[in-house]
Parts: sequence; C-alpha cells; structure tokens
Amino acid sequence: MARGFFATNPSYGNNGSGMNTASTMDLRAYGEEIAHLKGQVARLNMITEGLWTILKNEGHTDEELISILSELDTNKKNKKTAIEKGEETPKPRECPNCHVPLQNTDSIIDRCIYCGHEMIGNPFDN
Ligand SMILES: [Zn+2]
Repeated sequence: MARGFFATNPSYGNNGSGMNTASTMDLRAYGEEIAHLKGQVARLNMITEGLWTILKNEGHTDEELISILSELDTNKKNKKTAIEKGEETPKPRECPNCHVPLQNTDSIIDRCIYCGHEMIGNPFDN
C-alpha cells in the first residue's frame, strides 16, 4: 500500500484508464516543493550547527544540549498526552488588542485579521 503524501492526496489515484490522475504538472510541482523543503532543512541544519559551534566555543557541552533536548521532548510528550486524555485543552491565542482568538499561522509575526494588530509569537510553538 502507498504511504505518505501520495496515499493521502485525493488527486492522486487511478482513473480506470490505467493512467494516474495526478497530472505531470502536479508531480513536477510536488517535486519542486520537496526539493525546496530539502534545501530549507539543509539550510536550517547549517544554521543550527553554526549556533551550536558558537555555544560550544563558549564552553557549553554536548551533554548539556542532549539533556535540554531530552527535557523538551519529555515536556512535549507530556503535553500531548494530557491533551489526548482531556486533562488539558489547548488554549487558542488571542489578540491582545481586541481579544478575539487568533488563527494559527506558520508565521512568527502574527497579524490580527480583525483589528490589524501585529505581534511576535513564540517561534518555537507549532
Ligand atoms: Zn485584534
């Protein structure tokens, strides 16, 4: 059975003629997007490595990094479990100006669609 993107994309399948319904344009666009994302991941890896090198040069150790990553991972898993068990509900962020719930965006800078107020969110929230 197909896995991942192609298994969940409703535009990709067999139309009975033996031809896949995803067009060559779709596949090219997906390929370009994957190549773009791979480039972004490589860039972020390089930035992370650069930042870690700076911190190591200032005396921080790999053990410190591993410890904090472990702690962050545990906290994230605990929060996810608490939400799944109904012990905690995710709180929607609200605009500090007009107090309406904000839409979740991938942007670091959020802009309220109701009043236009701009604010910087937590860059590590996802
Ligand atoms: Zn607002």
